[in-house]
Amino acid sequence: MNSPSPQTQSLMVTGGAGFIGANFVLQAVADGLRIINLDKLTYAGNLDTLSLLHGNNRHVFVQGDIGDRDLVTKLLAEHRPDAIINFAAESHVDRSIDGPAEFVQTNVVGTLGLLECARDYWRGLDGESREAFRFLHVSTDEVYGSLGAEGKFTEQTAYAPNSPYSASKAASDHLVRAFQHTYGLPTLTTNCSNNYGPYQFPEKLIPLIIQKALAGEPLPVYGDGRNIRDWLFVGDHCSAIRRVLEAGRVGETYNVGGNAERENITVVKTVCALLDARQPLANGKPRESLIAYVKDRPGHDRRYAIDSSKLQNELGWQPSQTFETGIAQTVDWYLGNQSWSARVLDGSYRMERLGS
Ligand code: NAD
Repeated sequence: MNSPSPQTQSLMVTGGAGFIGANFVLQAVADGLRIINLDKLTYAGNLDTLSLLHGNNRHVFVQGDIGDRDLVTKLLAEHRPDAIINFAAESHVDRSIDGPAEFVQTNVVGTLGLLECARDYWRGLDGESREAFRFLHVSTDEVYGSLGAEGKFTEQTAYAPNSPYSASKAASDHLVRAFQHTYGLPTLTTNCSNNYGPYQFPEKLIPLIIQKALAGEPLPVYGDGRNIRDWLFVGDHCSAIRRVLEAGRVGETYNVGGNAERENITVVKTVCALLDARQPLANGKPRESLIAYVKDRPGHDRRYAIDSSKLQNELGWQPSQTFETGIAQTVDWYLGNQSWSARVLDGSYRMERLGS
């Protein structure tokens, strides 16, 4: 990673105790940046993930809501960040089916509050600081809807969100765009494909399958297992965000993807094979025999595929991991960090089925 440019020495990160936000914060602090980390610590936020930063004066953690205007205004005035990176969100599609209101509250209303505070803070900056300030909004490829067998999402693809989660993210993307057009706030938006890697809450496909396969439990696969996602290693998502922050053109959106389309069933079988090789089941059975097809998720998008050539060609970003290297690292990380998984699962979530 490059050394910090003068423009990005101090960042306000929201949602930095969640999966991607925490990976980003750990990497950024290691690279010498100062981080003010604002996170509400919902079930998905976990301070354990940030324990390596304990006592590090380049990291300030504040528990709070992105929609709390008084708190955000105070933090901006006190810490004077050069940019805001908005990761905070309700992020699990199945949960959005059970309870969409929380998704609108954080992803739409919360982002609006954060944007208003950012706009007012930015207006009060002068000269170079005002010129250099950025608001980077982290979003998803799910806003584009579902693809057939052919084609990829580009930055020109029309939004067609199909779940309450993706609808709320689409609404937040539109607000970010509107704040740039209406008030001139220097915004950037990234739309990324499915992430995997260390510190992902075990409700998402890959860590859920790792946990269940380790325990020798049935491995639930929705529908026929042939839904396709593009998979990106989380560290590569973080490096893409850093690159967009550094060199992205104000007002633009950038797709981020791993060029790694896989059917869900292939992902599950890959995890099974990696675990069998590293830690075979006591009964000697291959873990693939634990696969159990379950009723599909309502409105389950069939295929996502992302064209990230704009980011690659304009800004020279490339993922460093293939799916094969990234998934092997991820399995090894979960094997080496069982206590992290046990501690995050101490909360209310017990790997039960949601959103059915
Ligand atoms: P996550 O659910 O693991 O973490 C979300 C974090 O936000 C948690 O720490 C939570 O406590 C915090 N949070 C929730 N509501 C908040 C609020 N009102 N105020 C402050 N903090 C709040 O999510 P993730 O997987 O790390 O995703 C981060 C961002 O990246 C999200 O915006 C998501 O839409 C986007 N994204 C995720 C993926 C993926 O595959 N996980 C892919 C593309 C984009």
